[in-house]
Amino acid sequence: MIGSDPRPRVVWSLDFELRWGMHDVLGMDRNAYRTNLEGAREAVPQLLGLFLQRGVRATWATVGALACNDWDEYFRLAPSPPRYADSRRAFDPRYADLDPDGVLHFAPELVRLVSQTKGQDLGTHTFSHIFLGERGVAPKDVQAEIQQTVGPKVEVIPDPNYIGVPTPASPLRPEVQAAITNAIHSVVDPNMEVYPVMAAGASDGSFFRAQGIPVFDADGGWAITPLDDRAHGLDERIPVRAMYDDVVYWEKLIRSLAS
Ligand SMILES: [Zn+2]
Repeated sequence: MIGSDPRPRVVWSLDFELRWGMHDVLGMDRNAYRTNLEGAREAVPQLLGLFLQRGVRATWATVGALACNDWDEYFRLAPSPPRYADSRRAFDPRYADLDPDGVLHFAPELVRLVSQTKGQDLGTHTFSHIFLGERGVAPKDVQAEIQQTVGPKVEVIPDPNYIGVPTPASPLRPEVQAAITNAIHSVVDPNMEVYPVMAAGASDGSFFRAQGIPVFDADGGWAITPLDDRAHGLDERIPVRAMYDDVVYWEKLIRSLAS
């Protein structure tokens, strides 16, 4: 609910980063995932057309590097990389040799198209898609990445109320757990064992926790593990039924927690 408007909202937030978000998975294989990455040039204008036609507002989380014209511009602008404890996380300059014309890395015309299309917001997740949760990444690395993305006219400064103030995990609540368990049992499998786990992701939750609002992640999406587990991986996909199940799951969960 936003303000006094009681209508439910769906938030569209799209990762748009071509190969920048996948280097650690794709490595030095130029052809890995290539048709998908090249397909973005067709898919993005089509999506924008659909959004415009249906009045959909979306946020496009992109990386600053995507707006560069070529490798020369990228290497001139990119901040020095973090000192990762695990060196495999670092950007490998050989990616430039792999893709000399930059077709898998740069799309300034698409970034422009997104920002010029009505109702679309351009967000950023850093300049070079550095791995924020990795050991060795310092706040100054993140600051430099964001500063480079927004340019010299905007000053990026850390929020003293947030930086370095970790918040404790939200205590489990029986009614939340019961609602999740019931939704999974009625939608996916009545015998499925449901148990909570801790994860280090979803860092935006820490802002809510800092305000005393508990945060739980209750995604009902399922995949076939380990045979076809491709969330955040190569050819990311879920079974078609899992998508429809998830819609019913969310409806049940929201209705039971809201009632
Ligand atoms: Zn990403």
